[in-house]
Amino acid sequence: MEFSKHNILSPIKNSSNWVLINLLSGNADIIEAEVAQKLQQGDWTQNEDLLAKGYLVDPESEKKLFNQKYLDFLDERDSDEIQIFFVPQYSCNFSCSYCFQEEYDWSKSPLKDEVLDAFFNYIDSTFAGRRKYLTLFGGEPLLPGSSHQQKISRFLKMAKDRNLDVAVVTNGYSLSEYIEVLKIAHIREIQVTLDGPEPIHNQRRTPKDGKPSFNKIAEGIDLCLKNNLPVNLRAVVDRENLSSLPALAEYAISKGWTQNPLFKTQLGRNYELHNCQVGGASKLLSRVEMYEELFAMIHNNPHFLEFHRPAFSISKFLFENGELPAPLFDSCTGTTTEWAFDYQGRIFACTATVGKSGEVLGTFFPDITRHEEIIAQWEERDITSIPECKECPVSLACGGGCTAVAKNRTGQILSTDCRPAQKLIELGVSLYFEKPATIESTSIGNS
Ligand code: SF4
Ligand code: SF4
Repeated sequence: MEFSKHNILSPIKNSSNWVLINLLSGNADIIEAEVAQKLQQGDWTQNEDLLAKGYLVDPESEKKLFNQKYLDFLDERDSDEIQIFFVPQYSCNFSCSYCFQEEYDWSKSPLKDEVLDAFFNYIDSTFAGRRKYLTLFGGEPLLPGSSHQQKISRFLKMAKDRNLDVAVVTNGYSLSEYIEVLKIAHIREIQVTLDGPEPIHNQRRTPKDGKPSFNKIAEGIDLCLKNNLPVNLRAVVDRENLSSLPALAEYAISKGWTQNPLFKTQLGRNYELHNCQVGGASKLLSRVEMYEELFAMIHNNPHFLEFHRPAFSISKFLFENGELPAPLFDSCTGTTTEWAFDYQGRIFACTATVGKSGEVLGTFFPDITRHEEIIAQWEERDITSIPECKECPVSLACGGGCTAVAKNRTGQILSTDCRPAQKLIELGVSLYFEKPATIESTSIGNS
């Protein structure tokens, strides 16, 4: 018997206890430091419990279990819903300090009807029989003005004709003017960004006309909720605004948003995707730094959890569901359950690559073309094909990370974007299981 190579054994932040997790067997336990030390020293003789929970394994049997779960993962993914992004233009009415699309080709020629027709023809045939939904992305998809509104109306009518749900990723500035237009289709979610309370948000997310945007966006959120349009409020986080997030949470709570079942939140990390950030990279937080700062901030501001519960790798899932998530063989959805298309007739893997020269995977207009070799590499990339991931103890929590980030770093699709899964679990288990703040105490679950 061996100590499973998929065991994650970590001290828990601010605790004398440790956590032992195995995503392949689906078990998680909080253990005493003394037991953890014995395990680290290889002292596990006669421990039936460790055997029963798959922490001690026969390597051959574990390999079979790994292969079985991998096949299950591939099967499930084949029937998963596909998210299809469409960019009606790259132009935007904001000039946010951190926008990664600044360098893109903002061709002024607007979206043509024949391109939109070709887009729907392409997805009708390519994704026939697959569950799917559409997401409007930009640039800013909800630009003011009647010609933009007409194009978005046409898009939504074509989606409705096919019974396809639509999500929208918007800066929220023109939401109020778009409420009636949005009602044309079934809207799954409007993702709107507020980067902090009013003064912080207004500093970071400035419309090109120089006017403050916070109150207009908040008004749009109120109107969406009043009209039964679900809102996903996103904050893009870096050193400049992290400490102001409790104030944003207070604002959302005071507006009654957090009590509304149509309202949810998300935190995005500001990171250097394609080009240098205005103000330099010094304001950017690494993934570990962001979660460390969030951990400290939540301890001082427990009300924040009413607004948002950060994932801390698998910790939040375990806390909310009482069991571990399925092993993550592939954390990147690009070309498997996600695609992105733009108004210039081009096809990309996802939102991180859409519009970026050198990342085009094909065209749907004027002709259909596909770079099959590159697409095959994207499809193939997971923890079984990236050499470093094969022996990595946190691979089933990490899933190989983001292909776009990995490729930016190494030039190779089959390369790593390492996620600090162990560190995040140390923090998350402490937050959700050892020292719950406003949340009730609970014991860690096994599946
Ligand atoms: S490349 Fe990155 S951003 Fe794009 S789908 Fe994969 S993980 Fe997501
Ligand atoms: S990307 Fe890095 S951390 Fe993630 S599974 Fe691969 S080697 Fe492990």
